[in-house]
Amino acid sequence: MSKSLQAIRGMNDILPEQTPLWRYFEGTVARLLDNYGYRQIRMPIVEFTELFKRSIGEVTDIVEKEMYTFDDRNGDSLTLRPEGTAACVRAVLEHGITGGGQVQKLWYIGPMFRHERPQKGRYRQFHQIGLEVFNLEGPDIDAELIVMTWRLWGELGLRDAVKLELNSLGTSESRGRYREALVEFLSAHLDKLDEDSQRRLKTNPLRVLDTKNAETQAVLVDAPKMADYLDDESRAHFEGLKSRLDAVGIPYVINPKLVRGLDYYSKTVFEWVTDKLGAQGTVCAGGRYDGLVEQMGGKPTPGVGFAMGIERLVLMLEALDKVPQELSRQVDVYLCAFGEAAELAALALSERIRDQLPNLRLQINAGAGSFKSQFKKADKSGALYALILGDDELAQQVVGFKPLRGQGEQQSIAWDALAAHLATCVVQG
Ligand code: ATP
Ligand code: MG
Repeated sequence: MSKSLQAIRGMNDILPEQTPLWRYFEGTVARLLDNYGYRQIRMPIVEFTELFKRSIGEVTDIVEKEMYTFDDRNGDSLTLRPEGTAACVRAVLEHGITGGGQVQKLWYIGPMFRHERPQKGRYRQFHQIGLEVFNLEGPDIDAELIVMTWRLWGELGLRDAVKLELNSLGTSESRGRYREALVEFLSAHLDKLDEDSQRRLKTNPLRVLDTKNAETQAVLVDAPKMADYLDDESRAHFEGLKSRLDAVGIPYVINPKLVRGLDYYSKTVFEWVTDKLGAQGTVCAGGRYDGLVEQMGGKPTPGVGFAMGIERLVLMLEALDKVPQELSRQVDVYLCAFGEAAELAALALSERIRDQLPNLRLQINAGAGSFKSQFKKADKSGALYALILGDDELAQQVVGFKPLRGQGEQQSIAWDALAAHLATCVVQG
């Protein structure tokens, strides 16, 4: 096939075989967020480029090399959103829904775009569910975010496969003091740092902590620790978070090298990581960003949020065999009709049944193929029962009711009794 008729590298179709698992995952998260009182917000997927530069930070992987940026027909520089926080902050500011100190607990879902090297768990169009909370500054809300995700892992059967890593980056003042100390230390070991880290030392020194280079990592063992530079307030905030996680019984490890790739974080940062996905092990990541709203022109507004990668979590459910059995069956009942008059009756009957059993998954296959081929399709659909309506059944106002999964013989059921009969034998989730 010519290249222009193929999907763009790193941007995937999600085929009908895969969508039930996606919907299960998304539905589980949506229900959980509803239950905790979070409300959904939907932002455009394209924003002015400037928005991302200002919020994410000029010297970050995303802004330096991952954004899909283009000029539109007016000559405005636009960018496909690489993440959701910037647009969410833009939206709450634009609509003034946090300005008077109102608490907002918001979530969003949708595609994000980053020009990265595609590989398992890393794509150029990927999908996130994220949430942002505004105007709550205590560690209780940081804890709520983590507690909610812990509940989610429980519901999905993933608890044993994920680990929580925590760190505190302090306020921008304490982070500034730490940055100076780190730069001083690393400058004294410049020759032992990898090239990337030497460059970052000048532009965004905290990111050096993130390095994968073994030699640089060895240098970092003796580097100053952020924990020793934390201001009292940040320290108390971090302790408050930890004691809440302890109270709920959520295990965590402190990772002093956890700095996150975006500039806007302060105080709490966290990641849920797994060793089940190879190199792409972070499934959910977030933290506090108390300075961001002000930096973007709003009043000082505390904020905290996270985002999880849907692809990685779907991969995990598959890898750990946590795909619920019932997802494999999308049809309960398959109705086969034979002959023109029977087809009409089948359509009317099926609509009556749908009125009476709104949750029944009923597929009607009027008019296509022989008895044998219709039966094959009924079986392939995964349905539990086939209903058969031909001329004989029409004359008697009945349907043939045939179990497809070996639960007994075919019987004849009167149209009037059909809904009640189906209600007893099809268990609906
Ligand atoms: P990574 O270190 O893996 O590049 P990140 O720090 O860039 O992740 P965030 O910006 O924090 O990621 O995004 C939150 C989550 O979104 C990640 O933890 C991950 O699950 C998912 N994610 C990020 N980038 C991608 C991608 N290119 N493809 C698939 N999922 C992604
Ligand atoms: Mg990244």
